Amino acid sequence: MQYLTSPEKVTLNRKRQAVEKMRSLVVDYTGTSTPAASATAYELRSVAVPYGNCIEPSNVKAGGQACPIRFQCAGCGFYRPDPSHLLAIDEHIFSLKATREKALAMAADDFVVRNLSDQINAFDRVRTKMREQLQDMNPEERQEIEGASTVLRKSRASQGLPTTLTITPIEHPGNG
Ligand code: SF4
Repeated sequence: MQYLTSPEKVTLNRKRQAVEKMRSLVVDYTGTSTPAASATAYELRSVAVPYGNCIEPSNVKAGGQACPIRFQCAGCGFYRPDPSHLLAIDEHIFSLKATREKALAMAADDFVVRNLSDQINAFDRVRTKMREQLQDMNPEERQEIEGASTVLRKSRASQGLPTTLTITPIEHPGNG
């Protein structure tokens, strides 16, 4: 995967500069601009989840391991992606489309296909809004955001933060 950059170290200073550039480009799950109030808010009040950042307090506290709704980020009011997540979102949309093809081939129930389509549409709306933001910039600004995106992706990779989705099965009392 292209966005899984090598886990090299990113200095705190470079990361802080990247966050400072990126925080104004944060959107919510509808694609509405939702800037982080400060670099500190971006870093301390959010946690990396597979396709963006999450600001749900209990999940932030748990380091991104305690999503209350099983990582349905595309429809969640706590989802806060920014352009550093565009590659991950691209790959996820590709993967969701492949899964939808399989669901159709398996004659899965309509609700399964509909859920996949809804997620694809929601992620597509988010990435379109972020791409529009980038297109409105001059070339120098865009280059700075691309550099900041690379720094943040490297930082997440070096910390072992999630870049793919794994869901821990729910334990049911009495099972096993
Ligand atoms: S669905 Fe995503 S954004 Fe919402 S609480 Fe769970 S991890 Fe956070």
